[in-house]
Amino acid sequence: MADPTRISLNTATLQQWSLRECVEGCARYGISAIGPWRNKVHELGLDTATQIINDHGLQVSALCRGGMFTSLDDAGQRQAFDENRAAIDEAAALGAACLVLVVGGIPEGSKNIAAARAQVVDGIGELLDYARSARVPLAIEPLHPMYAADRACINTLSQANDVCDQLGEGVGVAIDVYHVWWDPELEKEIARARNRILGFHVSDWLLATQDLLLDRGMMGDGVIDIPQIQNWVEKAGYRGPIEVEIFSAQNWWKRDGNEVLETILSRFANYV
Ligand code: ZN
Repeated sequence: MADPTRISLNTATLQQWSLRECVEGCARYGISAIGPWRNKVHELGLDTATQIINDHGLQVSALCRGGMFTSLDDAGQRQAFDENRAAIDEAAALGAACLVLVVGGIPEGSKNIAAARAQVVDGIGELLDYARSARVPLAIEPLHPMYAADRACINTLSQANDVCDQLGEGVGVAIDVYHVWWDPELEKEIARARNRILGFHVSDWLLATQDLLLDRGMMGDGVIDIPQIQNWVEKAGYRGPIEVEIFSAQNWWKRDGNEVLETILSRFANYV
């Protein structure tokens, strides 16, 4: 059973709440860390967001998200670079432990996934000096292969580990059970990720998933053996926050935020 003080609330879980409400909710329920999305930070303004997070004594487990490196033209690549630098600046201001990268899918008009993957490596490589000087580690989050076309062409932890091997210091991985639970190489690749695990995200895979993006389950409602994966992650040296990240348009986003937080706390005691 995981220590509830290790919970981090990824703000995507409470789409119905502003960042301020999320911060205050965490404080009320003894949750010690938060993983904000940039849009919620922008709504409030970076300075105010930083201030209220600090005032409530919350750690920032990660900022979501940078990435989206794939593009067919130079202008698109330049734009991604600028946007990622802005995300690094925000992560630094917030004191975030890392910036999560959703790396981008296949650019529109292309069918070349190998080229997209190469572009991702180049894109992260170009960003790395800036991230290192800002002391913001970059966390590559492999996404389930169903998102390879539109969101992320890095789809296994093995691929993410390969990129880390190639690029060296300043790049690590975020391991999200929703994306990697099915992978027969998972135990081996988590062990290989030792000392580069920057985040651990939990939710559950519902057997009768209704929507491939917005129907993630609450821990305990699906088929993922979260304690098993968590055990591997901890054996690989990760002791940081466990981020709860549940995109759930038809269920959890429609409920009262306090009920969602209470459910997270009770499920955490039993299923994490
Ligand atoms: Zn995640």
